[in-house]
Amino acid sequence: MAQHFFSYHTHSDFCDGKASMSDVCEQAIDLGMKALAFTSHAPVPFENTYSLRFEALMDYRNAFDAVKSRYGNRLDLFLGLEADFIPGETVSFYEWRKLLKLDFIIGSVHLVKDPLSGQKWFIDGAPENYEKGLKIVYDGDIQRGVRDYFQQVRQMIRSERPDIIGHIDKVKMNNRDRFFHPSEAWFVKDFFQTLDVVKEIGGVVEINSRGIYRGKYHECFPHVDGIRRCMELGIPLTLASDTHQPIELEHGFDLALETAVLAGVKNVVMFQPNGWQPVPVVQFCSHHSTKEVR
Ligand SMILES: [Zn+2]
Ligand SMILES: [Zn+2]
Repeated sequence: MAQHFFSYHTHSDFCDGKASMSDVCEQAIDLGMKALAFTSHAPVPFENTYSLRFEALMDYRNAFDAVKSRYGNRLDLFLGLEADFIPGETVSFYEWRKLLKLDFIIGSVHLVKDPLSGQKWFIDGAPENYEKGLKIVYDGDIQRGVRDYFQQVRQMIRSERPDIIGHIDKVKMNNRDRFFHPSEAWFVKDFFQTLDVVKEIGGVVEINSRGIYRGKYHECFPHVDGIRRCMELGIPLTLASDTHQPIELEHGFDLALETAVLAGVKNVVMFQPNGWQPVPVVQFCSHHSTKEVR
């Protein structure tokens, strides 16, 4: 079990999470966590079952203020959003920051918009729908779909300047190595170009373990080679369980930590009121895993 760990990518029942903010805080304190940020999916301009609703925005802020005054002496609490970016459709991250006085924003792409047709390809969810969407939007051309995904992530980073880039290469998850392998040169090139842009704006990349503990993918986002590239470029890394229920807090963090250790990461960053601060990975390792960190 990780010690004094944190979660900066946490969903609650304000979006598609299963527990209230209070229940998540209670569990976090029981587990001995150091810090917790709530990051509901920001509202999107179409019907859906996963995001915060526009009309609930202020309730989200108020509920956070209430848990902060109740639990803030036992847990560092922060408020953020996991904001979708769909060109020409989503609210600017600047507006979210201003409206809710957020500590930070995770920018994520879940829907890839084909700039030619305007149709959208949902890359999360069930693998059958990924395949169906790929056929409808991209006529089955996986390379064009993936290129548009990374292009959209780069556009998001440049125009919206998210603090953290959420599950940066998640487009590979539902592929499940069926249409391509993430070691193929064209994929690596596009992915690494995207990391160059993260470096340009000084963004943070999260090591997101949700695919593993959900049984949807065998590696984190990004995988070990991607994490090593971040280290070469000097991009700060943080750990993310991307939890949708309290039980995943610890499990997801441990898996992300394991990947970080495997990739040779020495420090990750933790959010503090004065910004992102590096913390040695070894600090989170329990006795039996400390010896794996050199
Ligand atoms: Zn996400
Ligand atoms: Zn998430």
